[in-house]
Amino acid sequence: MTDNRRFLLRRRPQGEPVAQDFELVTEPKPSIADGQFLIRNHYASLDPAMRGWMDDADSYMPPIPLGAPVRASTIGVVEESRAEGFVPGQWVMGLHAIEDYSVSAAGGFTQPIDPAIVPSVTNYLSLFGAVGMTAYFGLLEVCEPKAGETVLVSGAAGAVGSIVGQLAKIQGCRVVGIAGGAEKCARLVDRYGFDAAIDYRGKDEAALVAAIAKEAPNGVDVIFENVGGIVLDAGLMNLNMHARVGLCGLISEYNSPEPVGARNLWRLIVKRASIRGLLVADYVARFGEGAAKMGEWAAQGRIVVDEHIDDGIEHAFDAFMRLFSGTNQGKMILRIA
Ligand code: NAP
Repeated sequence: MTDNRRFLLRRRPQGEPVAQDFELVTEPKPSIADGQFLIRNHYASLDPAMRGWMDDADSYMPPIPLGAPVRASTIGVVEESRAEGFVPGQWVMGLHAIEDYSVSAAGGFTQPIDPAIVPSVTNYLSLFGAVGMTAYFGLLEVCEPKAGETVLVSGAAGAVGSIVGQLAKIQGCRVVGIAGGAEKCARLVDRYGFDAAIDYRGKDEAALVAAIAKEAPNGVDVIFENVGGIVLDAGLMNLNMHARVGLCGLISEYNSPEPVGARNLWRLIVKRASIRGLLVADYVARFGEGAAKMGEWAAQGRIVVDEHIDDGIEHAFDAFMRLFSGTNQGKMILRIA
């Protein structure tokens, strides 16, 4: 191939992204300089966080510049190299962009990966990648669940949430998941082993408070929060003394020009509970440790992972928007090559 198809950010989305905020362009395949290597991207990870990177806001990462390809974690194969430690044919993963070819350099985020030691190379974007590590370090180190406690997970049928629930079961907890729709709720119990599932769709805050109280009769000791808004507010109303809330994501607010925010924070005072934000990037140096543990549990059949792979860079926008419509069934991945 001599062309490089690139999925560019043309405009900063106002609220929910629309197709016109992006453009798929074809440019010549890039060349590399000394110290660089060229990656043929095979898969791109589609993550809710990318929505935040599209805004011109102060965050843990600079905004994607207008006219640049949309930043994404990708896995691919080195095609040409003028960098030590990277050879043609080698699989790598790193923070690149939704494009056929990315140029990278040694010493950055890009790391070699070994497809021979995992069931599928895409597992480096799910169980053994940022998603799995968010669940692992976020639950075990930020929320510190103990056997016998009740863990409430929102966004429970998604990439992070489904793994969090399974890890909480391994810790000996009662696990209640919140997800959208009957099908996803059935999957929580039947496939991921949650003790109970709550369908948040069509429920107001009072109904959610009551549904959580019913499924967590002894109260909630840990909330692993992926959604925010009234889902978080309802969880806060069910907290036990000294409960821990791990704030992983607030997807219900990412497209909202005016976030509704958490309105029941006073429950933290009443219950002497804590709330803590978590960012997976803080654990990069320990990914090996987390991945080894995940590998062990997966081999024992104690963790299953689902991936939702859409085909073709020309479908990047529709695939990305699945994250907000909830039509992804597992870790959302785009196949590029
Ligand atoms: P995901 O859960 O696989 O996909 C997103 C899911 O969010 C959708 O399937 C949908 O599920 C749900 N959703 C979308 N809009 C919603 C709304 N308005 N209200 C309620 N639920 C909604 O995505 P993921 O990659 O696992 O990410 C989950 C969360 O973790 C996100 O908030 C993300 O930002 C966060 N995250 C944080 C870190 C970190 O380091 N802090 C790292 C990775 C991910 P339903 O069909 O159930 O509605």
